[in-house]
Amino acid sequence: MADQLIRATAAEGGIRAVGVITTRLVEEARQRHKLSYVATAALGRTMSSGLLLASNMKRAESRVNIRIIGSGPLGGILVDAGLDGTVRGYVDNPEVELPPNSKGKLDVGGAVGSDGYLYVVRDVGYGYPYSSTVELVSGEIGEDVAHYLMTSEQTPSALVVGVFVGAQGVTASGGILLQVLPKAASDEALVQTLESRIASLTGFTPLLQAGKTLAEIFEQLLGDMGLQILPEIQMVRFHCSCSPDRFLGALKILGEAELLDMIEKDDGAEATCHFCGEVYQASRDELAQLIGDLKAGS
Ligand code: ZN
Repeated sequence: MADQLIRATAAEGGIRAVGVITTRLVEEARQRHKLSYVATAALGRTMSSGLLLASNMKRAESRVNIRIIGSGPLGGILVDAGLDGTVRGYVDNPEVELPPNSKGKLDVGGAVGSDGYLYVVRDVGYGYPYSSTVELVSGEIGEDVAHYLMTSEQTPSALVVGVFVGAQGVTASGGILLQVLPKAASDEALVQTLESRIASLTGFTPLLQAGKTLAEIFEQLLGDMGLQILPEIQMVRFHCSCSPDRFLGALKILGEAELLDMIEKDDGAEATCHFCGEVYQASRDELAQLIGDLKAGS
């Protein structure tokens, strides 16, 4: 199934549900960054979380950045996701691999580390971005993002994210976010229902793997609670905003002396985009052109 995001409501608008399938875009991230299995799972879960968090923003250009800094060998994770359905991200140490955990699953919590912080920055498209930090709960990412939503955004939320990756690459990846909206937030029974429903969904990734659609999974979760699935299906994809022009623009900011140094010592310049792994090169002629532009004041 194509990568996509769908929205739904239930309990007469008291519950908001969002589901996302990210199988292809996480596979693209795996290939671009040469991610190990556990790094694929960690980044994939964070990418799905980013898209889910961005999905309730208002302005088209809104974006969410999730940064996770844990004590584990994977180092940091950074994901940038937009309401427009684009997402990109990377981990500091993509080659780290760990043995399976005690449940026989990829040890994402061990790779990320349970000591550390989760930072979320919401850029609403104008003014200062809104940022907030919480301590990690387990490093398993789903729990950590849910904890963030409960404590920082004070929205009772249940979230599940999962990635299935093996020798054939990523075969299932996605997530579901259920939230109790403010008008129903004092309804304790509703909040507990959500938590028990999502807890019953431990098999989310296997359901995706088995070819279930998001609509079918929503039906299973909320079908008896007045589920209404919104008709719009939004496509989501891996996309990075870097470009050759941006690379040259960044070089120009370094100034004439630095550019001359690059021409003399390196015969050009090269840089790799952290977010997507794209490699950019500038020849000595292009660097000389930039110096010319700087001298001409353009
Ligand atoms: Zn890039």
